[in-house]
Amino acid sequence: MNTYEPLTRAELAEKYPRTPTPIDRERFMEMLECLPPDNWNMGRIESFQLCELAYDNITLTCVWDHTRNEGWQFYTEHGATPAQIRAQLPRQLKCSVCAEDAGRWVQFHNQDTGWGICRKCVDWIKGPSRAHMYEGHEAFNRCYGLPGVNYAPPPV
Ligand SMILES: [Zn+2]
Repeated sequence: MNTYEPLTRAELAEKYPRTPTPIDRERFMEMLECLPPDNWNMGRIESFQLCELAYDNITLTCVWDHTRNEGWQFYTEHGATPAQIRAQLPRQLKCSVCAEDAGRWVQFHNQDTGWGICRKCVDWIKGPSRAHMYEGHEAFNRCYGLPGVNYAPPPV
């Protein structure tokens, strides 16, 4: 017989990711029509939240950017304002190291708004001459976030 074990924080984070995942228009419309949408905001960037909560006050949020014709889904606080939802979407960032374009990524909370890091500077910081300053990936991630989310991943 199974006993009920609540999910750990790590398991919750994996099951209900807060990082925006791209969705197509079909998925956006499907989610919009499956339950009465909550917190529905129309406009250039349209967003709504599912009325059903995933855990605590967290629910699935879907966004459609009518200008870019692209969509995103992620889990966040139920009742988040349109500004709070937009703040969680990928945006054009400048590199906090060299001030050049860092690409379009999710703002990391430990960087000033609008700032991230470009791939060239990631490689430079993680290179042999400076790697001692960060003592591995964890310290680097605390400053700059995650590759593929907050800055460009290494080329494949
Ligand atoms: Zn840079």
